[in-house]
Amino acid sequence: MDKAKRAAVIAGNWKMNKTPAEAKALIEEMKPLVADAKCDVVLCVPYVDIPAATEAAAGSNIKIGAENVHFKASGAYTGEVSADMLKAVGVEYVIIGHSERRQYFGETDQTVNLRTKAALDAGLKVILCVGETLEQRELGYTEALLEYQTKIALTGVTAEQLKNVIIAYEPVWAIGTGVTATDEQADEGNGFVRNAVAAAYGADVAETVTIQYGGSMNAKNAEGLLSKVNVDGGLIGGASLKAADFSVIVKAASK
Ligand code: PEP
Repeated sequence: MDKAKRAAVIAGNWKMNKTPAEAKALIEEMKPLVADAKCDVVLCVPYVDIPAATEAAAGSNIKIGAENVHFKASGAYTGEVSADMLKAVGVEYVIIGHSERRQYFGETDQTVNLRTKAALDAGLKVILCVGETLEQRELGYTEALLEYQTKIALTGVTAEQLKNVIIAYEPVWAIGTGVTATDEQADEGNGFVRNAVAAAYGADVAETVTIQYGGSMNAKNAEGLLSKVNVDGGLIGGASLKAADFSVIVKAASK
């Protein structure tokens, strides 16, 4: 297993936080702190913050992402935003299938698949989230669940398109809870996801896919998690709202 074959990516997920003015201020604070990063740095922000965020990040190594996207190109889908709309305002990445979307907004593996294909067709890079609940883990379903979620989400995605997919293994019990997976649990979960990709696309392709860990990653535990062979980066919620903490994680991924 060769980590060097994969891009390390640290992505923030701001969730429903920050006004446009606050987004601008936070990015201005982050820019000098992450300027020397040897990994890709992405901030996924609320829709209304996108213009302020792309303006603040212009000329820096910070890329801007959205937190969701609809699968239709246009039409009567009140409250939704299409992939082309995101592209038009300078978005490069989009999170799809976050557990909060699955838990609170009826997201299913099938709609995750539709969103993934629409985003890729529009030329966006996808951060695809998968992960088990505590109950599923305790019942021993983690591996099967990760395989199922990964395979369904990627149905119809070509090997060429897969180059624009990052997968984030995010155990639901670790998101926003302060309970982090151990380094070994993160490595194991990411390995299950990589095996699922290998089953669908072959081992050589799977070796090149960036698989992040997400779930209470912070300035203190990032180095250990990122040292694991299958952990190619992080999807960071809470700690991405603090410039100092986020930059420590970026530095840990740059080693
Ligand atoms: C997330 O929102 O994807 C996440 C991992 O959140 P947190 O880092 O706060 O657990």
